[in-house]
Amino acid sequence: MAKELVICSEKYWNFDFGRFHPMRPFRVKLAYQLMKDMGLLDGVVVEEPYEASWDELKSFHREDYLLALKEEVFRPEFGLGTSDNPVVPGIYSYAALAVGGTLKAVREVLNGGFAFNLGGGMHHAHERRASGFCYLNDVVIGIKALLEKGRRVFYLDIDAHHCDAVQDAFYDTDEVFVFSLHQEGIFPGTGRTDEIGEGRGEGFTANINLPKYAEDEDVLYIFENLVIPLIERFSPNVLFLQAGADGHKDDPLTSLYLTTGIYAKIAEMLRALDLSSVVVTGGGGYDIVNVARIWSIIWAGLIGKDLPDMLPDSFLRISIMEGYDGPGIWDIPGWSGVSGHVKDIVREQVEYLRRRCLE
Ligand SMILES: [Zn+2]
Repeated sequence: MAKELVICSEKYWNFDFGRFHPMRPFRVKLAYQLMKDMGLLDGVVVEEPYEASWDELKSFHREDYLLALKEEVFRPEFGLGTSDNPVVPGIYSYAALAVGGTLKAVREVLNGGFAFNLGGGMHHAHERRASGFCYLNDVVIGIKALLEKGRRVFYLDIDAHHCDAVQDAFYDTDEVFVFSLHQEGIFPGTGRTDEIGEGRGEGFTANINLPKYAEDEDVLYIFENLVIPLIERFSPNVLFLQAGADGHKDDPLTSLYLTTGIYAKIAEMLRALDLSSVVVTGGGGYDIVNVARIWSIIWAGLIGKDLPDMLPDSFLRISIMEGYDGPGIWDIPGWSGVSGHVKDIVREQVEYLRRRCLE
């Protein structure tokens, strides 16, 4: 059996961005607990992340930015001290821990296996600027470590926001395919459909801009007609999935209309590709009950474990306090189930990207 590893630590949730910040680290505890209570960690190795070293961070970030972050002082030129990226005591270690977690996941599956770093997925952290709740980019640093070992990486980002810093880092290379699915017109504003890479990287970046209220069926169409054929064609050694859960219909920061069902379908389709090495990270997600449900569903689907229909009592007690009233893991499907329901704007983008990236 392939190695299965989850990277998690109480240090991931014993942290506070402040009362009014949407990022609530408690969601990681909720996800971890739900996975455990549903048996998704049975036979799975659970390991602590480590704090990435200065040199590891320098493989992407600039030293002047790292020094400013380490000082933990207000430095607006580096994006530090904004409402999105407050300077919270301990932020350097906290951010470096997520990078170490992803590096551990990457190294553990170099020769096969599945690893999920629940604290990772910080796709907006730039070379020398904090942005979008992200300070250090574990995704870019993790992928760079894979490239150093000669691996070809397909990066799939299902977060509702565009992975701007990841796209920038690999825009001109054909060794990484960067695919992002995100809501159009919201932060960070990049990731237009015609951004497809440049130089050797042309045709190795693809962006789908989902319209407001895009539903499961739109995403299913995109996966069947674009994402899966692209992965098959690229034939990666490693699939790197950023599993942001903020596309869910109840997320307070976005306006997509995805239900838990599509996340199961995505995981099932990826599993069917029979890839030997898969790295998963967390990402966005601001309705914490749904983050826990979605990450559990994705992990179960990827490693081929069955899920109970009902959520465990331990989880229900918390989810009721969070305003979630359903006892089940599945939402009511949010789409009609007929293929004509896929929006034209989605079909057009899929056709365009098939021409530019697949033919
Ligand atoms: Zn997001």
